[in-house]
Amino acid sequence: MFEALSERFDSAWKKLRGQDKISEANIQEALRDVRRALLEADVNLQVVKAFVAEVQAQALGAEVVSGVNPGQQFIKIVNDELTKLMGETNAPLAKAETAPTVILMAGLQGTGKTTATAKLALHLRKESRSAMMVATDVYRPAAVDQLITLGKQIDIPVFDLGTDANPVEIARQGVAKAKEDGIDTVIVDTAGRLQIDPKMMAELAQIKEAVQPDEVLLVVDAMTGQEAANLTRSFHEEIGITGAILTKMDGDSRGGAALSVRQISGQPIKFIGVGEKVEALQPFYPDRMASRILGMGDVLTLVEKAQEAVDIADAEKLQEKILEAKFDFDDFLKQTRLMKNMGSLGGIMKMIPGMAGKISDDQLQQGETQLRRVEAMIKSMTKEERKNPELLSSSPSRRRRIARGSGYQDKDVSKLVSDFQKMRTMMQQMGSGQMGMPGMGGGF
Ligand code: GDP
Repeated sequence: MFEALSERFDSAWKKLRGQDKISEANIQEALRDVRRALLEADVNLQVVKAFVAEVQAQALGAEVVSGVNPGQQFIKIVNDELTKLMGETNAPLAKAETAPTVILMAGLQGTGKTTATAKLALHLRKESRSAMMVATDVYRPAAVDQLITLGKQIDIPVFDLGTDANPVEIARQGVAKAKEDGIDTVIVDTAGRLQIDPKMMAELAQIKEAVQPDEVLLVVDAMTGQEAANLTRSFHEEIGITGAILTKMDGDSRGGAALSVRQISGQPIKFIGVGEKVEALQPFYPDRMASRILGMGDVLTLVEKAQEAVDIADAEKLQEKILEAKFDFDDFLKQTRLMKNMGSLGGIMKMIPGMAGKISDDQLQQGETQLRRVEAMIKSMTKEERKNPELLSSSPSRRRRIARGSGYQDKDVSKLVSDFQKMRTMMQQMGSGQMGMPGMGGGF
């Protein structure tokens, strides 16, 4: 899902990465990429324009956080705006004060409306809300049967009057029956057409009038792209929707529909359909969706943690030391402590884009064990030795003393000293180019 969008954001991000400041000039290309990404994903042009303008304003006004590169910060801004665009938080399903809650399902044929009706009923039951489904699609061959079959499958009652009855009447009687039976929520499945037509809209409006729903959910196929914008507009203007379900999000759909529905109707996407099975329904979370669109591990959490943990002055001093190859064992200790403040090494590694899944838990465990060993050895060093790692390179007796003090062997200490020298050189080289996250001591 959203692969195309993710890739484009990825490339926008790569371009910004390594720049030391967000500026009008260096942001232009990234913004163009964001714009192109959204347009390619069939997001409505107006939505795109408003979005890009907002991102630009936010990015240029943003304070640069120490220890986080501008690319990461830019991505966070894009993410926050995307989240905002999609509605910030998960919007729950309505619940009427007096039962039954009435949900009207609307949408074109083939979007997954009938399937979503059953999915929703099952979801409600999992929340201990009893449900009933009403079959009003008397036009599509076998639609009523389809709902009845689904009802049997999940053991949810279905109200129908065959295919000769009037849909408005079926809906009215269905809701009355639900009330009589003390059902918590009644979901009315309605007919769809292959395209929006006045007759369908008129009938839907009549059903709405007859049952006074608490919720009108527009079912939108995520694969419809640009068309989702027009569809949402028509249904919202003529019927008035209170939310949407985005189906077929398991396919290689483009992100456009998700972004457009909210912008155009002002109503939230409440659920997503992620498969043909009745269980394949998930609440829609704007923040998760935004992260998925950005598709780069949990960079955002990392940025937030860095904001909490990094002291600006410290980071600048460290940067200088790295450049002059004066990074010493004390700095190392400070950095490991900082990392601990930010969470476990494993947690941090997993948040770095491209790292998730590439490092096994075993390897992470080894990394953490190794860090503890190193810490123990550094603690057995004198103040002077910590400040001047060179002292150890030239003195086997110092290394022996440290080994004994920390409970490790001479060769362990020798290895630490030589690794440390190598790391220092490497960090200096990276530092004079561009280091990713100085605050984290990037080179570890
Ligand atoms: P309706 O005409 O809108 O009532 O559509 P249906 O509920 O009959 O669904 C049309 C087709 O889409 C069926 O083959 C469903 O199995 C399929 N479908 C519905 N929802 C999803 C979904 O979330 N993912 C996938 N992959 N298929 C779905």
